[in-house]
Amino acid sequence: MLHARTHGGLISRSPYDADNIGVWNLLGHSITKDVLTESFAWVIATYCNPHSDPFVPALGLDISAFHKLLQSRFPHFTALPQWLEVQEGIVGDGGSLDEFPDLLQLLLGYRAVADEHHRNVAHLVATACMGGDHLWQDLGLPDRKSLSALLTAHFPALAAKNSGDMKWKKFFYKQLCEREGINACRAPSCAACCDYAKCFGAEEGEAIFFLSLPP
Ligand code: SF4
Repeated sequence: MLHARTHGGLISRSPYDADNIGVWNLLGHSITKDVLTESFAWVIATYCNPHSDPFVPALGLDISAFHKLLQSRFPHFTALPQWLEVQEGIVGDGGSLDEFPDLLQLLLGYRAVADEHHRNVAHLVATACMGGDHLWQDLGLPDRKSLSALLTAHFPALAAKNSGDMKWKKFFYKQLCEREGINACRAPSCAACCDYAKCFGAEEGEAIFFLSLPP
């Protein structure tokens, strides 16, 4: 049995619940249980759900790349046709995900390797950035340390720029502002800023998702 902790408490679901395109269903069809695969399952189940807000169809990938990703990470998973159909939508169409393309371009531009795997991880992270919690939570990771490790492995030059250990979402948006020559900060320096705690400091919270797989 898989267990997931949500803000509402601990719940248990069968991974083979064919009626649900959820994280449990996806993970039940994965071939590995590594942290990145779990994160893909969580993010796809959460943000590729047309009933969710925000809804990010296909993680912003084109539909053939999305199919390939599903096949490589979850080879035994057969998606419902109506779910697959809505994945062909455009990110932000009718919604308010204006910043998604810019965040995606930022991440793509800093990939350690310009290959398919790193592209998929860029889409994963950009999608999770649309969520409302700390980024590590929106990615379904166990803690912030796992997020820093993931970013350092896949976007090392970008991660290295966050030498002050700024909160990751804040850091990404600050990078976008700097690219555009926008200074949205009210203080001349972070040290003198009354918003310091919003940009830096601990990103504590409960993991909103973790797994306990049967032995
Ligand atoms: S702490 Fe203040 S000055 Fe530094 S990035 Fe945040 S808002 Fe800008």
